[in-house]
Order: sequence, then C-alpha cells, then structure tokens
Amino acid sequence: YGPDDGLLVLRNVTKRFGGLTAVDDLSFAVREGEILGFIGPNGAGKSTTFNCVTGTYPPTEGTVWYDGEDTTGNAAHVMVKRGLARTFQSFRPLSDRSVLENVALALTPDKLLTLSGLRGKTRERARAICERVGLGERVELSPSELPHAGLLRLELARALATDPDLLLIDEPFAGLSSGEVETVSALLAELRDEGLTLVVVDHNMRGLLSLIDRAIVIRFGSKLAEGTPEEIRANEAVQEAYLGG
Ligand code: ADP
Ligand code: MG
Repeated sequence: YGPDDGLLVLRNVTKRFGGLTAVDDLSFAVREGEILGFIGPNGAGKSTTFNCVTGTYPPTEGTVWYDGEDTTGNAAHVMVKRGLARTFQSFRPLSDRSVLENVALALTPDKLLTLSGLRGKTRERARAICERVGLGERVELSPSELPHAGLLRLELARALATDPDLLLIDEPFAGLSSGEVETVSALLAELRDEGLTLVVVDHNMRGLLSLIDRAIVIRFGSKLAEGTPEEIRANEAVQEAYLGG
C-alpha cells in the first residue's frame, strides 16, 4: 500500500495501549466514491482504527495517507479541515440548543458569535443540511425530543457541516429498528451517489452487505478478509470465525 492507493490509506498501522494491541499491523485503502464496510466484533479495534486516522491519538506504528499526503498523527482539527469527518458511536448533542443550532455550531468555529444570534447564511446552510438528512421539519426541536434515528441524522448533519470528502460513520445502526436501518441506509447511499466517500463501521453484517460496495473484516485488530459483499459472504475465514459457520 502507498499514498496513491485510495483517498485514505493505512499501511502497517498498529495501536497499543500499554500491553494491549488494539490494532495490529493493519493495512487497507478506502477508494474514492465507495461505501466501504468496516466490520468486526466488539473489541476488534474498529473505533481505535478510526481514532488513529482522525487524529484522536497517533498510531503507535504505521503510516496514514489522506488524499495522497502523509497525515500520520495529524491533529483532529487538521484532518477535519482536509475533508475527513466522522460520527461518534455515542452522540452528545447540546441538549439546551435546538437541532438547527447544533448543526450551525458545526458550521462555524466562531461558536459564541453564532449562538448570540443565528443569522443569514449560517442559518440557511444549517437549515439546508438539516433538510438533506431528513430533519427539515424538526429544526426547532431539542435533540432530546428526537428518536434515536433522528439523533443519528443530527450527528450526520453535524459531520456534513464540515463539508467532508470522506465520512467515517461509527456503528450507525446500533439501536435502530430494521425499518430505520433501511431509511438510514438509503440516505447513506444517496450521499455516496452525490460524490461522498463513506466508511461504515458495524459489529455485525445486518443490513450492511446490501449497502456497501466493499468490506474489510477485522478480528483482534487484524484484517481477516476483504472484498465485495459476495466475496465476504463466500469467505471461509469469515464464515468460520465471524458468522459462526
Ligand atoms: P471496537 O470499536 O471494534 O468495538 P475498540 O477499538 O473500541 O473496538 O477497542 C479495541 C480494544 O482496545 C478493546 O480491547 C478495548 O478495550 C481497547 N481500548 C480501546 N480504547 C482504549 C483506551 N483508550 N485505553 C485502553 N484500551 C483501549
Ligand atoms: Mg467501536
């Protein structure tokens, strides 16, 4: 793997916490314009991999390239500026602000100014993004009034507000009904069709294989399999180790 193999490329990335190796010599590439599934059981190292890429902390070893440049260990705000956005597994919107204000806060670093009165362009852009994710009718609500799928939409809106080229989405389907999984999947597919590159993390394959273009399956921090949904389904190592035979 090298810098030109994809929009985001990891080569031999390892992350250790003391004696625990959470990510173990992991290499893969995210290709521009695809939805890549990043699948593995709980504790496999999925979120840690995200954290090493998005600047939460640097990898212990290995190299990360984003858009052809070595971004290993870059800080989170630098990666956001470059066009890499993420959602978090546990969303924490500001509950004393409206849905619209929560999105507006992600639009501008000038937080105090924004909150003293949402004006003109910021308000318009925040509203457009809310509409894009299906929250157009709920902009005045408090996040606490949203159902779980609505909170996920808000988290997606906050990520989209940074105008990303690549969006990493950590466990979006946890806690959603199968109907909600379908509507959120449809939204993610639309975003892909509009040119966004997406990585979707999940601990199981429920609903995911029909959404994604390719998948990486990891276990114990290492790559177990990689390929199209058909290849993943047919993969013996995946069937044995992951789907339970
Ligand atoms: P996943 O997202 O696939 O469920 P994680 O990346 O969260 O897995 O965790 C991988 C392993 O690393 C787990 O054993 C977890 O307990 C450990 N781990 C994650 N973050 C830390 C941390 N900050 N300090 C110590 N251990 C951690
Ligand atoms: Mg996780």
